[in-house]
Amino acid sequence: MSSEESIRVRIAPSPTGLLHVGTVRTALFNYYFARQNKGNFIIRIEDTDTARSTKEYEENIITGLQNLGLVADEDPIKGGPFGPYRQSERKATYRPYLEQLLAEGKAYYCYCTKEELEKVHKEQMAQKQAPRYPGTCHGRSEEDKKNRIAEGIVPVIRLKIPGSLKTVVFKDLIRGKIEQHTKELDDFIIAKDLDNPLYNFVVVIDDVMMKITHIIRGEDHIPNTFKQVLIYQAIGVKNPPHFAHLPLILNSDKTKLSKRKNKVSINDYLGEGYLPEAILNFLSLLGWNPGNNQEVMDLNTITSLFNLGKVQKSSAVFDTTKFLWINGQYIRSLPFEKFIERSRNFLGKYAEQNPTLLEHALVLIQERCKKLSDIPELLAPLLEEKDIDISLLTSQKIPPTTVALALEIGQRVMQNWDKSEAFTIVNKAEICEELKQLFLKEIVAHNLKNGDVLWPIRAALSGQQSSPGAFEMIWFSGREKSLQKLKIAHAALRT
Ligand code: GLU
Repeated sequence: MSSEESIRVRIAPSPTGLLHVGTVRTALFNYYFARQNKGNFIIRIEDTDTARSTKEYEENIITGLQNLGLVADEDPIKGGPFGPYRQSERKATYRPYLEQLLAEGKAYYCYCTKEELEKVHKEQMAQKQAPRYPGTCHGRSEEDKKNRIAEGIVPVIRLKIPGSLKTVVFKDLIRGKIEQHTKELDDFIIAKDLDNPLYNFVVVIDDVMMKITHIIRGEDHIPNTFKQVLIYQAIGVKNPPHFAHLPLILNSDKTKLSKRKNKVSINDYLGEGYLPEAILNFLSLLGWNPGNNQEVMDLNTITSLFNLGKVQKSSAVFDTTKFLWINGQYIRSLPFEKFIERSRNFLGKYAEQNPTLLEHALVLIQERCKKLSDIPELLAPLLEEKDIDISLLTSQKIPPTTVALALEIGQRVMQNWDKSEAFTIVNKAEICEELKQLFLKEIVAHNLKNGDVLWPIRAALSGQQSSPGAFEMIWFSGREKSLQKLKIAHAALRT
């Protein structure tokens, strides 16, 4: 790459499944690098595996990335100067390169049968060698080739690793110099025939033609990179792209991230009520961090802080607890209006509630909501009428006499509270503060602890082990209803 060339990076997902968290992590790191360098971020769809690729998956991947805020500069839908951006539409471009390699003797046809190859591999394994192609067809006579064709054998095309080459080397921007001895490689297949090139070949031609300057992808591609470096050399590319291999993503038990152990599609997380901005934030921390303890950062902040060279070499752990925590932080910091908007699809049976009551309930749960799908469970103590359960009132080892006293105090405060204005979201903080002062006065006067009074009141009002605090519960229920509930609880305690 010459210095005046602009940075061009790409992701090349195969549309064989829904948008995967690993694809988004790779996309993010490419995106940050492109934006930092005023370069272009490209999506190219690798849909040559026609049996497994579908249009629905392609759509899910491209729009999924877009909805997360990862807008590409060039992609199959918006196009661009180096299109088409779907591999299946680029077939005609590959053939001349294959023909050239064959003509130059840098690639050759292989007529070996499956049975012959299996036999060789077995022998190699018996001698404790890794199975590799011994190059038989490189020296095969023309007559032998003709005979084999006459027998109906369909040849494949292999790349010839130059005999003089001892190692394949590339400099990884994250890992430094990486090399592999050619003894560990063999003349690998680059095409089934002239019209059906395979992944390693196609990806090199696409990257060359699209003027890709940096290839940033998962560590699992390192074995492919050696092969691709050989292909760049064979087709005579002087300045191949730079490579950066991102660390693997592991489950918490250190096994490779898999859908059997974790949800891996972005749709699953969105469906559970993870916010797009939290998903981006969390995935950005899989292999990178800003070097301090900051964990909650938006896309723009990470774009300015990200450093490709500082991406870690060791595997990254998909820590679901941290993911949930980050999501909770984002939910908590949403302006209330936005929280209402986002919660709309997650209300379940509470969607039909009186809107004001629902909003009053939502404002109380926002802070404790870690994912939007928790909303119905958090709303239940506020919106479901439950008979008072006395064991709940005394469950905190507060003596029954103290519980009774707390409920009396509660009733007294309610009765004497000179408050006629309606409780609204606007005056919530003010009401709660006023209640706090009233209760604290009583608590001090009776020489009690806060919890001795506030726990039974909260439990009597919510009927639940956990709920918003006593003052918020009173604000939510209103003075009359709170008084009534406290009376009922008090009466129940005495029976
Ligand atoms: N289709 C490959 C994948 O999804 C892309 C490999 C590459 O980035 O070269 O893993």
